[in-house]
Amino acid sequence: MDILVINSGSSSLKYLLFDMGNEGVLAKGIVEKIGEETSFLKHSAGENEITREAKAPDHDAAFDLMIQALLDKGHGVIQSTDDVSAVGHRVVHGGETFVESTVITDEVKQTIEDYFPLAPLHNPPNLAGIRAAQKAFPSVPHVAVFDTAFHQTMPKRAYMYALPYELYEEDRIRKYGFHGTSHRFVSMRAAEILGIPRGEFNCITCHLGNGCSLTAVRDGKSVDTSMGLTPLEGVVMGTRTGDFDPAIVFYLARRRGYSLDEMDKLFNKQSGLLGLSGVSNDMREIHEAAEGGNERARLAIDVFAYRVRKYIGAYMAVLGRTDAIVFTGGIGENACGVREAICTGLEPLGIVFDSGKNAATRVEEAIVSGADSRVTVMVVPTNEELLIARDTLAVAEKTAVKT
Ligand code: AMP
Repeated sequence: MDILVINSGSSSLKYLLFDMGNEGVLAKGIVEKIGEETSFLKHSAGENEITREAKAPDHDAAFDLMIQALLDKGHGVIQSTDDVSAVGHRVVHGGETFVESTVITDEVKQTIEDYFPLAPLHNPPNLAGIRAAQKAFPSVPHVAVFDTAFHQTMPKRAYMYALPYELYEEDRIRKYGFHGTSHRFVSMRAAEILGIPRGEFNCITCHLGNGCSLTAVRDGKSVDTSMGLTPLEGVVMGTRTGDFDPAIVFYLARRRGYSLDEMDKLFNKQSGLLGLSGVSNDMREIHEAAEGGNERARLAIDVFAYRVRKYIGAYMAVLGRTDAIVFTGGIGENACGVREAICTGLEPLGIVFDSGKNAATRVEEAIVSGADSRVTVMVVPTNEELLIARDTLAVAEKTAVKT
């Protein structure tokens, strides 16, 4: 059974086609710069890779490009669009409505639209992608997999902000959390690796990429997570501040006369590792600058690691018993120096880090704590697309049984 996984952003369409028989990737690609004068298609299937300029004024046109690439005699992998059995869609915000992946009906599309105000940058292009995909593949089930869904098990004490209660009731202001598919994937995989039943597994998952978030997982379920109403809250990220005193908003408005839009850009796009280092939002470049003696680059790494460490401490207190700390995402999987800065010196908390194993580990599943560590520290590469494909298959099969 072939499952197509779609991640539709405002100017890009990413796709992967899985053969669920062996969970292998048949083809993958991206249409970039949708809506611009010239767009680009990058497509690969096994050894075959193509990159070419194309016209994609909208998402419908981007889907046409993807389908042509999938059907192409040279680098294509399917004979007809009927070879695709179901389509899975990454959707960022499912609010309080969606606690799991769901088959997409008109009502589901309406609810995704209802959540536009909560995710103005993501839900509109996600829905545009769903509409275009339904036109392109009209006779197969389409399934929505939400970034927020995994965190819907958080208790109220974890997701409520101490604001007047009516702001929650009337404006839906609460912590939702994001990266849910990644946190779910790596927590499930870590339990499997350690041979602990998923429903009894307690861990802290650290998704450290360009966007970063940590989740406390108790008995396999999310009980707290660092991102909030929006992805701005939590640890330091590539260009986002993470936690900071909200009174900085008033201070900047009064002192510098910044508008809301200017501050939105400042906190989301110009802060974090980029703002602190002045070098880049990319950990590799910051690391290089730090090695070369750049003090601000060193400071950026220091603040980054310190904040993650603080959240780990907080979530160990939330969980009580912590079986594992799991690192994933571009930084979590690759940056051994950052993992080391986060985890060393935590022996009093039962974490015995193994620097040797850690230094030898890159983009692979590994245990980087010592045999005598009460808490296992692990690296588990994330695979959100595979989990979307698995969910899509499961939901499509369940729906087929019902109908
Ligand atoms: P992601 O958003 O998961 O793709 O992660 C992007 C982040 O991972 C960027 O900050 C990259 O610099 C970082 N990253 C990727 N590869 C490495 C590496 N080999 N060493 C350090 N950081 C890396």
